[in-house]
Amino acid sequence: MRTERALNFNPGPAALPLPVLEQARDELLNFKGEGLSILEISHRSRAFESLVLETEKLMKEIMRIPPGYRALFLQGGASLQFSLIPMNFLPAGETADYIVTGSFAEKACKDAGQVGQVHLAANTKGQGHRRIPRQEELHFSPSPAYVHLTTNNTVYGTQWHYTPTTPGSPLVADMSSDILSRPLDVSAYAFIYAGAQKNMGPAGVTAVIISEEMLDRVPQSLPSMLRYDLHAKNNSLYNTPPSFGVYIMNLVLKWAAENGGLSRLEEVNRKKAALIYKVLDEYPDFYRGHAEKDSRSLMNVTFRLPSEELEGLFIQEAGKWNMTGLKGHRSVGGIRASIYNAMPEKGCRTLADFMEDFYARKG
Ligand SMILES: *Cc1c(COP(=O)(O)O)cnc(C)c1O
Repeated sequence: MRTERALNFNPGPAALPLPVLEQARDELLNFKGEGLSILEISHRSRAFESLVLETEKLMKEIMRIPPGYRALFLQGGASLQFSLIPMNFLPAGETADYIVTGSFAEKACKDAGQVGQVHLAANTKGQGHRRIPRQEELHFSPSPAYVHLTTNNTVYGTQWHYTPTTPGSPLVADMSSDILSRPLDVSAYAFIYAGAQKNMGPAGVTAVIISEEMLDRVPQSLPSMLRYDLHAKNNSLYNTPPSFGVYIMNLVLKWAAENGGLSRLEEVNRKKAALIYKVLDEYPDFYRGHAEKDSRSLMNVTFRLPSEELEGLFIQEAGKWNMTGLKGHRSVGGIRASIYNAMPEKGCRTLADFMEDFYARKG
């Protein structure tokens, strides 16, 4: 049993900023003088409606979203978007291109294939998803309805460090595990989505950033809950939204702004990741990084040790250093340190120190 808060390296749901949790605790019984908890308030109340509108505004400000886009707060997770995207944007007779760089990209591609025709513009599976393809390795179909990519591969620990050029097609991106981690040219994308539970809030709310052009393409024949245009028209209040999740996301966005915005967060994230990658580079025969260097993720650091036995011991001893959530994804094994925005630099330093100590004893 722990009496103090642990250093949380979980991949998602993941660490939230402590000031956010503290404010949520302090306001839990009485939200903004309503005399009710945020958990009890009507989603049709003025207080809640202004919370949703404010959250959209905050998101636009912090991410510097240009005019002509909407930010929506939906349910169903990033995984539901895997099928909603082709249902909304892949008409019969057209092809959507997918760049498969990891397991979530693969799932997105598979679901799109259930809806319509897909083309693999690239697939790094044969190379163990260790790297992001270069622009010249992307082979698009003649005129894709859209091109889909996953900007950070949570399971494998790789991340795109450039925005690919498409044959004039809208770019659609799953940013579940790196949204808000660095500045972004949103105008390069027509559609961005992210489950909140990695870098932006709790499980249960999914953010969607969608251009007006994409909203115009939604087929009116779709059932209501599947239509992005209806959600936009109703300011994410078509039905009962994930109200607590929107509230926490609102607090996380304010926290991000107070902490210097995305440029500053990126600076800190680079510093944090460098502390851990430095140890991998010092002892490459012991700590075997999964990602190739130029594809390394600033959010999920993945590596193996020489044996599963050592990996088990590593995780067990890390627990004694008050660290948790370091076990790699079941499909890759090994160790994964998820170091999203809310992981303080101190946590990454502790992990790096522990890795040095562990190597000195077991290497
Ligand atoms: C976690 C994750 C998902 C799945 O999110 P859910 O909200 O559980 O559906 C999808 N894509 C990426 C990149 C993820 O990291």
